[in-house]
Amino acid sequence: MRAAVVGSGIAGLASAAHLARAGHQVTIFERFDQPRPVGAGLLLQPSGLMALAGLDLRAGAEARGARVSRLIGRNTRGRAVLDLRYSDGRKGDYGVGIHRASLFSLLLDTAREAGAHWRTGADVIDISSPDTDAPCLNLADGETTAPFDLVLVCDGAHSRLRRIVCPQARERVFPWGAFWAIRPDPHGAREGELEQVYDGCRIMIGLLPVGDNPADPDGAPGVSVFWSVRSTERDAVMAAGDDAFRAGFARYWPRAGLAVGEAGLDDFAYAAYQDTLCPRWRRGRIMLLGDAAHAMSPQLGQGANLALCDAAALAAAMADHAPVQHALKAAERARRPSVPYYSLMSRALTPVFQSSSKLLGWARDIVFNLSGRLPGLRHWMGWTLTGRGRMPW
Ligand SMILES: Cc1cc2nc3c(=O)[nH]c(=O)nc-3n(C[C@H](O)[C@H](O)[C@H](O)COP(=O)(O)OP(=O)(O)OC[C@H]3O[C@@H](n4cnc5c(N)ncnc54)[C@H](O)[C@@H]3O)c2cc1C
Repeated sequence: MRAAVVGSGIAGLASAAHLARAGHQVTIFERFDQPRPVGAGLLLQPSGLMALAGLDLRAGAEARGARVSRLIGRNTRGRAVLDLRYSDGRKGDYGVGIHRASLFSLLLDTAREAGAHWRTGADVIDISSPDTDAPCLNLADGETTAPFDLVLVCDGAHSRLRRIVCPQARERVFPWGAFWAIRPDPHGAREGELEQVYDGCRIMIGLLPVGDNPADPDGAPGVSVFWSVRSTERDAVMAAGDDAFRAGFARYWPRAGLAVGEAGLDDFAYAAYQDTLCPRWRRGRIMLLGDAAHAMSPQLGQGANLALCDAAALAAAMADHAPVQHALKAAERARRPSVPYYSLMSRALTPVFQSSSKLLGWARDIVFNLSGRLPGLRHWMGWTLTGRGRMPW
């Protein structure tokens, strides 16, 4: 079967690797000219690690990343607001912090070794004949490809092709985003915790160990540093300059200040978050996967994991069902209980950590503190963290 994959992010590369391994003829279309193995650290959850195991990549990801056993968030007085261990969800579980570049190269190498063809500088702007058995891709340079038997739309949160599949999609840019960078870890840690410091809901600073930092000339392990900032305040932060930026980290959390070191705003990128509700992921032989289908804020650290699980579900459905439309339907059915659960959780919980509300911050500190002491609730929160959450229906 001839398959086109639009986008070489996590969903696209994982799907391409699965399909190529199953013997399909796969072409990945990526709009960037050069590989862009840059980006923030990602927290791989037990769900994403299981999906990587299906591509024999779990050991590689663990070797490059940093094992994370716990998520701990404190207020500025040092009092724990959130203290969750993976083992609260399931004994023996853990997450893995990893540089996006490390995951990218693992997936890309696997897809290419399996025979997938990777076309860069290929900006897909449209899909023609979407309701026929022969959809084609239209590229920005005027090329129309030969027909494909399957088109996977994996073009990310800001997907241009989403509405071809789902005209009813609701897209919303979340009013908050974050400055983030990967810095050398001052403690050289290759395992640890995801730590956060909160001042109400307005300030959230985080440190996530990511293991290998491909950009570090000395091969020192990296730590992902982030600071959430309302989009409307981004320009003011930029205008205040490097000294004020560094002083902010040092004031709220000296250890984060140490990780930032001499870095300035130029060393940080700002990411705004898109939230998408997409009631339909399929149209004929075309399917949305990853953020194209269900972008959400990264507050719960699930987007990349959902993308890996989407790809695994598609591969399983393709192995069990024919024709291709039936396989896509089975893949969507397999993913439906989990994705709406995390969309809902992400929408409910993001403002609790990133908003201007004083009341929410106050209520959060009390509720999380109490719920951490109730074993049933603690287990449910841990279970949600592991990526295994799903709607009960
Ligand atoms: C700051 C930040 C931190 C995050 N932290 C976490 C975390 O800890 N854990 C977690 O699980 N998730 C996290 N996420 C979310 C995660 O990054 C995404 O959910 C994940 O990258 C989605 O993968 P994807 O393949 O769907 O999209 P992407 O990874 O965005 O890939 C989309 C690809 O499509 C290409 N493309 C776009 N348009 C076109 C086009 N028209 N033609 C051809 N190619 C195109 C793009 O260039 C890109 O390569 C974080 C996100 C952000 C912004």
